Amino acid sequence: MAHGVTASRTALETEKHKLNRARQTLREVWGYEDFRPLQDEAVADVIAARDSVVVLPTGGGKSLCYQVPALVRDGMAIVVSPLISLMKDQVDALVSNGVDAALVNSTQSMEDKADVAQRIRRGEVQLLYMAPERLLAPKTLDFLSRQNVSFIAIDEAHCVSQWGHDFRPEYRQLGVLRDHFPNASLHAFTATASERVREDIAHQLGLRNHRTLVGNFDRPNLVYRMICRGNLMDQILGVIQENPGESGIVYAITRREVDELSGSLQSQGIKALPYHAGMSDTERQKSQEAFIREEVDVIVATVAFGMGIDKANVRYVIHAGMPQSIEHYQQESGRAGRDGLRSQCVLIHSSRDLMTWKRILENSTDKNFKTAMAAVEAMASVCTSVRCRHASLVEYFGQEYDSDNCGACDVCLGGLDLVDEPLILAQKILSCVYRVNERFGAAHVVKVLKGSQDKRVVEFGHDNLSTFGLLSEFDTATIRNWIDQLIAQGYAERFGEYLTVKLTDQGRQLLKGIGEVQLTKPVSSQGRAGRSRLGDEAESWQGVDRGLFDQLRDLRRRLAAERSVPAYVIFGDNVLRQMACVRPSSLKQMGTIAGIGQAKLQDLGPKFFKAIEEYCKELNLARDQAPQETKPRSSAAPASKPSSTTANTAFTYFEKGMSVPDVAAKIGRALSTTHGYLQNYIQERSITDPRPWIETNDITAVEQALQQDPASKALRPVYEALQEKVTYNDIRIIAACLRNRQEADV
Ligand code: ADP
Ligand code: ZN
Repeated sequence: MAHGVTASRTALETEKHKLNRARQTLREVWGYEDFRPLQDEAVADVIAARDSVVVLPTGGGKSLCYQVPALVRDGMAIVVSPLISLMKDQVDALVSNGVDAALVNSTQSMEDKADVAQRIRRGEVQLLYMAPERLLAPKTLDFLSRQNVSFIAIDEAHCVSQWGHDFRPEYRQLGVLRDHFPNASLHAFTATASERVREDIAHQLGLRNHRTLVGNFDRPNLVYRMICRGNLMDQILGVIQENPGESGIVYAITRREVDELSGSLQSQGIKALPYHAGMSDTERQKSQEAFIREEVDVIVATVAFGMGIDKANVRYVIHAGMPQSIEHYQQESGRAGRDGLRSQCVLIHSSRDLMTWKRILENSTDKNFKTAMAAVEAMASVCTSVRCRHASLVEYFGQEYDSDNCGACDVCLGGLDLVDEPLILAQKILSCVYRVNERFGAAHVVKVLKGSQDKRVVEFGHDNLSTFGLLSEFDTATIRNWIDQLIAQGYAERFGEYLTVKLTDQGRQLLKGIGEVQLTKPVSSQGRAGRSRLGDEAESWQGVDRGLFDQLRDLRRRLAAERSVPAYVIFGDNVLRQMACVRPSSLKQMGTIAGIGQAKLQDLGPKFFKAIEEYCKELNLARDQAPQETKPRSSAAPASKPSSTTANTAFTYFEKGMSVPDVAAKIGRALSTTHGYLQNYIQERSITDPRPWIETNDITAVEQALQQDPASKALRPVYEALQEKVTYNDIRIIAACLRNRQEADV
């Protein structure tokens, strides 16, 4: 008995010791100060060889939960990961940090495979990455089960469960691992999992006495906006222009939309590429790589894109249509801001999306139509509700959101334009639903309210109803959206196969004047109202020299291309921002920046240091400044509203007619950013004369070229007509002024 106690105490002490070593490793190899709260526990489980299921949202830091313990525990860790491209990037990133990581996959030569096997035999591999089907091949199992395998981490573990949204049969076979590796602990990691999925994962993998750790689903650094569709292209361009030169993803529902949108963006001079399942593997691969290497800024994609993407500095995700479910939205929007820096998620929706999904799902055989449609409707109701987006999403995943104002969504930031007398408006609409006997779909109700002489309206005598034409002054899309909002808020519901609109009890109460409703105004037809300055990033750019940042980013891009690795494998955006903020005067100082481990400091430090040195000398900039606060904002403490002071300062200079380079110098931002501000300025103040910023000759030439095809919004023909002599930025400014002039003339 006494012996047992001593033994377990020793075990405990060894664990404690190992945990300290893990922390030390985190500092030396990754350059991070400490684990995040849940990482701490997850790491402890792996070190104690206690099976676990870890649910952390994208960007939560799952990889470190198994990478660090792999360096601390004896033997080799195996990481199961579904995608070859992702694996390669992860291994590259580890190797660049000086970790002995390796992978085995089908794209390798026999020689490479033999080489890895040799290294494993010699005990030189700490982390081995593999796809499930490779690991489960009898020969592999036979070989590996004779090696000293400490633990197996299963990434994207929701693929094990058929209740998850991405079930993969080859994952289901992973159940045999327990038998083949009786001494290894098993650890499942995923970003999305309902309780049912979590339990299923544990069951399918045969976990023993496992612990489940569930992180906070909120992503405080994401600024959500959900807006009604107006002029889609303008709305998308608006977001892109708020993030000049940054990486972003635009999701569309269908392949056709993807092709159209990416074409339109290209014709506007935006570096964009498409990605969807209809393209060949090679084409898709090309698009993906160009995006990861930062050769293009924007990828326009269907949901097919993203699983294999581990790009941490995606600054915005735009949905050009409503996603299929809240789970999908969480995943797709979650690809923004994995590095913890403020990023934008803009969802542009219209009631048409619901119909599009209905059509798609009706033709799909692998989904239960009713369940799938309910998921679409749940998404629709988040879009059209006026509840905090952070709260809505987190609550959907069964967690509480304990702040009244997130400071990071259109609702909380007052970005919604509310209708003045919502009760009366709601009553008009609901009473129309009532008067058509709750037997028609939303489209018909809209027609009646609008006063349409549609055949069916007349046939049913609905042109005689008191509600006929009651909202004739509004357009169809607006009325339709109000109905959606009322459904989202529970005053009405869609029913049956034909999505008939019916009143709920709450709706009947509202007709009697009991209850409180809020409705938002439509966006203006130009779609400009959809734009806002919520995304001002002043916060995460504080103290950062934009010019230097841009130079460092260029250097990163060159190094990434040279070494054929993704940009983030070199350094993440947060490291570059810190460099451009601190401007270290020695390599030692540089080593104090979060995210620079020892290996990288040696390998890459001198190159970046040289760039900083040159830049600071030239501009006579002070060095060794205080670093930024690096902690991501916690959701519990709402951030102060993002200020738009920089933009405002820029505006006052533009008012004085100052040139773009001068303003850029004054506000300490890159030219591209300043151009973005100028465009906002011109739009917001309806400026009609581009002369302060552009030479008269160019103006005349561009305006003539624009008039060639006034209906077209494409800038490329103009750019080409002028022999590429006038920049896209200048063309945009001239075009915006011209538009303002034409609008003023009307
Ligand atoms: P996930 O796999 O959960 O989406 P990652 O493992 O890719 O998340 O981590 C997201 C980002 O957070 C990465 O840039 C990573 O380097 C960073 N990160 C993770 N853990 C920490 C930590 N303890 N301190 C600082 N940064 C961290
Ligand atoms: Zn909010």
